[in-house]
Amino acid sequence: MSAALARVGVLGGTFDPIHHGHLAAASEVCAALGLDQVLIAPTHRQPFKDGFDSAPASERLEMCRRAVEGDERFAVTPVDIERGGITYTVDTLTDLRDQLPGTSLYFITGADALTRFGDWKDVDRLQTLAQFVGVTRPGHSLPQLDTPHLLVEVPAMAVSSTEIRRRVRAGAPIRYLVPRAVADYIAQHDLYAGGMHD
Ligand code: ATP
Ligand code: MG
Repeated sequence: MSAALARVGVLGGTFDPIHHGHLAAASEVCAALGLDQVLIAPTHRQPFKDGFDSAPASERLEMCRRAVEGDERFAVTPVDIERGGITYTVDTLTDLRDQLPGTSLYFITGADALTRFGDWKDVDRLQTLAQFVGVTRPGHSLPQLDTPHLLVEVPAMAVSSTEIRRRVRAGAPIRYLVPRAVADYIAQHDLYAGGMHD
């Protein structure tokens, strides 16, 4: 990550695990808005998800790192995992602005997560920290929002982390839904198997 970058996208999420829907959305927004880079920001703990993550933060972070390897447009930031506790986007953006002075931030959110945008912590201050970008997601319509958002249509990828975890438990294939390095990591570390984790 370099302080010289003028326009940086941020895709926050649990990434449990990261999949090609995330990467397609990041890639499309990068091109549509002419961004210099998109940062993948895995949460420590998500305020709207009950219970514990099915994979530890360190493993979700490592899968993100492996997923973006070889694509210069993408990088992974551990800012939320290092801060710990419940991850609020207002803290993510405040910390990233400190790390990247002079950079314009674009926070990317899928249609499903956008429906709850009004409940996000410090929603008014959020607007001053970044430009918000909504992206389309199969099965979810983009909500009407009171707050200004850019909208980017991304090629439909009907994949979710929930479905990947379900497939791993069921012994169904996940190749081509997640990067190969992520599928290998899941297999090597025996993640999501046996229905023990969620
Ligand atoms: P889970 O099923 O565990 O909720 P998920 O697939 O929704 O996982 P998240 O980590 O919750 O993944 O999502 C991170 C961000 O990426 C959210 O803003 C979400 O809306 C967006 N996103 C996830 N999958 C897609 C997809 N297939 N197309 C567009 N956006 C997506
Ligand atoms: Mg989700």
